[in-house]
Amino acid sequence: MINFQNVSKKYNDQFVLNNFDVSIEDGEFFVLVGPSGSGKTTTLKMINRLIEPTDGDIYFNDKRLIDYNLKELRLTIGYVLQQIALFPNLTVAENIELIPEMRHWSKAKRRERTEELLRKVSLPPEEYLHRKPAELSGGEQQRIGILRAIAAKPDIILMDEPFSALDPISRGQLQLLIKELHKELASTVVFVTHDMNEALLLGDRICVMKDGKIVQTDTPEAIKSHPANKFVAQFFQHEHANLENYCAEDVLESGFIEDGQVDSETTVNLDTDLPTVIRLLIEGETVVLIDEKVPIGEITDRTILRFLETKIEKGDQ
Ligand code: ADP
Ligand code: MG
Repeated sequence: MINFQNVSKKYNDQFVLNNFDVSIEDGEFFVLVGPSGSGKTTTLKMINRLIEPTDGDIYFNDKRLIDYNLKELRLTIGYVLQQIALFPNLTVAENIELIPEMRHWSKAKRRERTEELLRKVSLPPEEYLHRKPAELSGGEQQRIGILRAIAAKPDIILMDEPFSALDPISRGQLQLLIKELHKELASTVVFVTHDMNEALLLGDRICVMKDGKIVQTDTPEAIKSHPANKFVAQFFQHEHANLENYCAEDVLESGFIEDGQVDSETTVNLDTDLPTVIRLLIEGETVVLIDEKVPIGEITDRTILRFLETKIEKGDQ
C-alpha cells in the first residue's frame, strides 16, 4: 500500500537516499533499522511529505503521494517522534483529542475514545485526563504521545525512534503496548530504530539500511538466520541489557501471575529471562510458567506490563 519506486534524495549533490525501492503491505509492522545517518528519518518523512524526493515516486494505495491533498493525507497519518512533543499548555485529554477534533468528531465521541485509550495504557482517566505534560513521567508522556498519534485511527502510523530516550523498562513496556495496539488497530506501522533487537522484536518485516541504501529487507527470522552480510550480522551485538536482569521467577514473586491450569504448548521456567518471555508474548503465544513440570499459571501481556510498572515505581532498573 505504501510503495517507494526508485526514490532518491540528494542534498548538495550528495545522495542521502539512493534508489530506495520497497513495498510496505497493508497492516504491516515495517521497521527501518540502520545506524545514525543511514537515511531512516529522511525515508519516514517522505511518507507524510515533510521531505519531497529528488527522484522517483511514492504511492499510497496506488495513488502518488503528491496527488493527495496534503492536509487530508496528514490527517490519515499518525506521527510519533523520539522527543516527546506534547503541547505543554494543553492537558492530556486536549493533546490526545487534537486530531479527532480536527476531524470533527463530536465532543462525546472524542472523550469516550480518550478514556478508552488511557485505560488501555493503565493511566486511569479520572487521574490523568486533566494533567499537563509537566505532571507526567517521561514514559507516561511518551504513552500519551502514542495515544495522540493513534486516537483518530490513522491508516498509517509513523514512529521515529519513539522509545530511544526512555529507560529500558519503559521501553519494554511501550514495545509491548505498541504491538498490542497494532494488532487491534490494523494500521500500517512504519517504525524507525537504530536498535536491531528492537527491530527483531517488533517487525513483521525489517529493512536494514546503510548509507542511504537498502542492505536487506526480510522477516526477522530470515534476517537472523541469513544476514545478508557482516554489517547486518554485527547489529545483533547489543542486547536489552536491563530487561535481561529479570526472569520469570521475579515476575512470579511480584504476585501478578494468574493462578490456574492453562493448556498450552508454550511453557517457560522460573529462570527464563524476561526478553524471551516478551518475545513469546509478542509472537502471540499463550505462555504458561512451569516449575519442575507443574504449571503455576499463565503469563499475559498484562502480567508483564504490571510487573514492569512496579519496577518503574521503585526506580529499580
Ligand atoms: P538517520 O535518520 O538514519 O539517522 P537521516 O535520514 O536523518 O538519517 O539523514 C541521512 C543523511 O542526510 C545524514 O548524513 C544527514 O546528515 C543528511 N541530511 C539530513 N537532512 C539534511 C539536510 N536538510 N541537508 C543536508 N543534509 C541532510
Ligand atoms: Mg533519524
